Amino acid sequence: MPQSPLMTSSPSPLALVPFVSVEHMMKIVNTIGLQQVIRDIAGYIEADFKRWHSFDKRERVAAHSTEGVIELMPTSDGETYGFKYVNGHPANMARGFQTVTAFGLLARVETGYPILLSEMTLLTALRTAATSALAAKYLAPKGAKTMAMIGNGAQCEFQALAFAEILGIKKVRLFDIDHKATEKARYNLSMRGLEVIACPSAGEAIAGAEIITTCTADKQYATILSDNMVGCGVHINAIGGDCPGKTEIHKDILHRSSIFVEYTAQTRIEGEIQQLDAAHPVTELWQVFTGEAEGRASVDQITLFDSVGFATEDFSALRYLYDQLERTGHYTELDLLADPDDPRDLFGMLHRASNSPFYQGKITA
Ligand code: NAD
Repeated sequence: MPQSPLMTSSPSPLALVPFVSVEHMMKIVNTIGLQQVIRDIAGYIEADFKRWHSFDKRERVAAHSTEGVIELMPTSDGETYGFKYVNGHPANMARGFQTVTAFGLLARVETGYPILLSEMTLLTALRTAATSALAAKYLAPKGAKTMAMIGNGAQCEFQALAFAEILGIKKVRLFDIDHKATEKARYNLSMRGLEVIACPSAGEAIAGAEIITTCTADKQYATILSDNMVGCGVHINAIGGDCPGKTEIHKDILHRSSIFVEYTAQTRIEGEIQQLDAAHPVTELWQVFTGEAEGRASVDQITLFDSVGFATEDFSALRYLYDQLERTGHYTELDLLADPDDPRDLFGMLHRASNSPFYQGKITA
């Protein structure tokens, strides 16, 4: 067979891409410890927010349907590029599917070659909880010990444990319209040493709580918290309103609150503040983390983190995960890149393979 003029040396090893499956992720989290992982991810997220201006930032790219949304969340710090694919389908639960699932990727900007592919359903729950607790570290009343969790679905336990780890929360008051969800969360959280109280209504759940997390899933302008329910001095961690037409907090509460956001341009489209005038003042978290803006300024202030989830948080979580690969060994390698011996001879690589029984599928490795 004539040799391709581009073919020079012997084959180089395949460029393999580390892949973290759901099984690997569970092993990594259980090896390191769930609350330690949340604390560590919060550290990476905080460090990346503090270098906010290094990042390429844009609103996420959303494909809406009547059932939900599919989104791509890209960012880059100039050296590393990352994106997450994530969906939000509140009606999925009734079909026995999850509301939120995700996967993501990191790549080297210099070559464009991917360096990590990972499941991100678990990682999203971890990073969302880490971001919430991190924001609350700057915004919640000092010494807060009790938190209300309204919406006891997939995110619930991660949220509660993040607040226990980072803020020292001891007591969690639960409410969900589906008592089975509350019972599941009560069982899971009781095993982790928290005092857990199942409440019959949202109003009762927030009684005495210094921190209120709303974490429900419904594709509508819902009112999980109405104005008369919320007293002064609390911190509201609003994570469920994260899509156009999907909010949880009554507009009047927003007017009484100091509002903190991740990336204003995206939150104006997706967050609670979609209910407000586009000029309504908000503070971005990076400003608080760097000391450029004040967090909680008084005991009477209502602080509200209007969380929608931003691409840099996923980037930080993937960066953390990448740093754990060697230490834990919990990953496999994917043959994701063609990487021919001669970069221009992609066809030759395929052609040579056509003569091999292995690549004809006649024998297996
Ligand atoms: P999930 O479907 O597993 O749980 C949602 C729970 O909310 C369900 O148990 C449901 O019964 C309950 N619920 C619905 N309406 C309610 C109401 N009126 N009062 C009380 N409970 C009610 O969803 P999940 O994965 O836990 O996600 C929760 C929400 O958080 C979703 O809207 C999701 O899009 C959002 N989310 C936000 C971020 C972020 O970064 N901000 C990240 C992940 C998920």
